[in-house]
Amino acid sequence: VIKEKQGSHYNIFESSISENFKAMLTMETELRQALKHGQFELHYQPQKSLSSNKIVGMEALLRWKHPVKAYIPPDEFIGLAEKTGLIIDIGDWVLREACRQNKLWQDKGYQPVSVSVNLSAKQFYQRGLVEKVKDVLRETGLNAKYLELEITETMAMTNEDNIMDTMHRLRQLGVKVSIDDFGTGYSSFKYLSVFPVTKLKIDKMFINENPSQNQAIVKSIIHMSHSLDMKVIAEGVETIDQLKFLMKEKCDEMQGFYFSKPLPPEKLTKLFQAEYQSLK
Ligand code: C2E
Ligand code: MG
Ligand code: MG
Ligand code: MG
Repeated sequence: VIKEKQGSHYNIFESSISENFKAMLTMETELRQALKHGQFELHYQPQKSLSSNKIVGMEALLRWKHPVKAYIPPDEFIGLAEKTGLIIDIGDWVLREACRQNKLWQDKGYQPVSVSVNLSAKQFYQRGLVEKVKDVLRETGLNAKYLELEITETMAMTNEDNIMDTMHRLRQLGVKVSIDDFGTGYSSFKYLSVFPVTKLKIDKMFINENPSQNQAIVKSIIHMSHSLDMKVIAEGVETIDQLKFLMKEKCDEMQGFYFSKPLPPEKLTKLFQAEYQSLK
């Protein structure tokens, strides 16, 4: 349509396409450089048990410390990394680094907790994923029960027939598998009950938007998780009222700004120390 219009319109259209394309190429090159030059970092957001009030886990969240643009959040580059296939190498780094750091905390004597790692679709469907996970656990010395892999509903519910097998083999290793952003994708109840999933993560949108509409949904997700023998965690908890509601409904765990933002490792160490002091 635009092509049929007069000169200037068409030019604007064309130049904005090529600008976007150039920006993408630049970012792709920069992402490769970032991996090579150690510009990626993991921040960790603690997860609290609502019954014991203790830190029981943490989610590893990727940050790109760009040399001139400072920190770039994952939503701005994961998509491109996925498209270009770079996500495999980046994801390998994330997995290894998260396991290494978690083992380091355990070796320092802090209460052992799980680390959750987000997997993208390409990573989850790659051949040899289970062997890779096994190798990383062996190399870093982390016990499999302290690693959790997060996948989304859409990734779990596709028709790929090796998914069930991948999940079972991960569970056999002792690794946990959780469903991230639960409630925002397509879930089939039929699959939910047969997949060896250990935990549902209720998407933050149900926690911190529209309480009057969403509380009923949150309640049902909590009850369903428990009937299916899964744990359930609420993401994006920002207020005391949200926390009280989740406690009343017997949600197992919470993660959100109310307790803590994602933190660089040194800062999470301080939280572990504070918890350790308070137990003495
Ligand atoms: P996610 O896995 O659902 O991670 C939770 C996101 O919610 C994080 O955003 C976190 O900072 C944010 N968040 C936590 N608590 C609160 C809260 O109380 N309120 C609000 N408004 N937000 C909260 P972040 O770190 O920007 O990550 C965004 C997404 O990028 C992640 O969503 C995940 O899908 C993806 N991602 C992050 N790291 C990785 C990675 O290593 N690999 C892959 N494949 N994806 C990643
Ligand atoms: Mg996640
Ligand atoms: Mg999420
Ligand atoms: Mg997500």
